[in-house]
Amino acid sequence: MRVNILGVGFDNVTMEQAVAEGVRLLRTEGGHYAVTPNPEIVEICRADPEAMEAVNGADLVLADGIGVIYGAKLQKTPLKARVPGIAFAQKLMERMAQGGDTLYLLGAKPGVAEEAARNLEKQYPGLQIVGTHDGYFQDDGPVIEDIKASGAAVVFVCLGAPKQEKWMKQNGAATGARLLIGMGGCLDVFSGRVQRAPEVFQRLGLEWLYRVAKEPSRIGRVAKLPLFLVHAAGEKRK
Ligand code: UDP
Repeated sequence: MRVNILGVGFDNVTMEQAVAEGVRLLRTEGGHYAVTPNPEIVEICRADPEAMEAVNGADLVLADGIGVIYGAKLQKTPLKARVPGIAFAQKLMERMAQGGDTLYLLGAKPGVAEEAARNLEKQYPGLQIVGTHDGYFQDDGPVIEDIKASGAAVVFVCLGAPKQEKWMKQNGAATGARLLIGMGGCLDVFSGRVQRAPEVFQRLGLEWLYRVAKEPSRIGRVAKLPLFLVHAAGEKRK
């Protein structure tokens, strides 16, 4: 069952349930995709019907970010758990490594996906990274063909929101992959170029604060959080 927060339907799942569903999807015939919206993405969707359609059209919609959890609480429709996209991807890769599954990394600046691939193959022995491509391409065709030729079962699509969600909705099936996952800046983290917040920030739900401190230009994006909470509270009153 999905919990509707300002138009976005979130799957009400724990991390374990999300990973089990991810594994099921990658073993199931057909093209599927997963999204990991945070409050900023929900606000983007409210202003962009195409983004909203792409997000709600996903097979798995995970609540990335403490803001979504607060929003759900404010609406009196609490979600079981926060499922950060990056942690979801890490747990899924553990399972993929055991199964010898194949992965393609799409997105970020040139060189980043290759660095991420080298690190991930070391971290998850057994995981097969069968291709990479940067996220600054003009034509979709050659990228789709490259993914198809790689035979990847899973694709991490890291083009930023809402570009990655729209890309997966439009092109996911044509890549031949079983499961595409929209993951924002995860390749920057996997490559080692960007550090994830220390665990104490993650536990307290303050990862956003750490990121703003590191990259002050993010302040405009984070400023959408209070607005999101006001909107969620307003929805409850209606
Ligand atoms: N990006 C990309 N192609 C684009 C725009 C962005 O590959 O046309 C990449 C960018 O290099 C970065 C990621 O998409 O690696 C977006 O990262 P951001 O930190 O904005 O995402 P978040 O995790 O905050 O959603």
